[in-house]
Amino acid sequence: MKLYVATKNQHKLKEIKEILSDVDVHSVYEVVDDSIDVEETGNTFLANASLKAKTLSAMLDEYVIADDSGITVDALDGAPGVYSARFAGPDATDEQNNEKLMTVMKPLPEEQCGASYVCVIALSRGGIVERTFSGLCEGFIAKEYKGAGGFGYDSMFLLPDGRHMAELTDKEKNSISHRNMALQELKEYLKTK
Ligand code: IMP
Repeated sequence: MKLYVATKNQHKLKEIKEILSDVDVHSVYEVVDDSIDVEETGNTFLANASLKAKTLSAMLDEYVIADDSGITVDALDGAPGVYSARFAGPDATDEQNNEKLMTVMKPLPEEQCGASYVCVIALSRGGIVERTFSGLCEGFIAKEYKGAGGFGYDSMFLLPDGRHMAELTDKEKNSISHRNMALQELKEYLKTK
């Protein structure tokens, strides 16, 4: 069975391919024009993942998954949340987003720095969402950057074991991540198909 992923984020695609190593995973943009972008207009991860999966799966006759993910900070009532990629502005880089979050969090005491990565994956075919899957990875916002792996907020995301997410190898990150948790649920579901 072929599974198409609705993302232009090469980091996400790489992680998904590694975690679903026994599935034939492709980018949707191998068959769909890459000028097609689905605007994330939803207020929740579920709404955005569903919107992306629905829209793109209507353009090919195969299963499509879309992942919407981000970081939620307890002291910020869940922000940046669905706006994680655009926290510092519409075309912000990872570095700009990190700097903005670091500036906001720096004055707070460590006990107020709880945060989680969240991932919701929608599985869709023919423009209809069939199932959604979710995963969570809990940690803290650190006061400094560490590590060179991963992407996004990984260099400032502190795990309960004292390491920053970006210090983990790809294999280690893929065994504990929010994306892994959601993809394991998806994997189980695909076995029933
Ligand atoms: P999306 O493309 O709208 O799902 O945006 C996801 C954004 O959330 C990314 O640009 C990152 O800023 C952040 N994010 C999601 N997953 C991760 C992760 O595994 N590590 C670090 N940042 C992540």
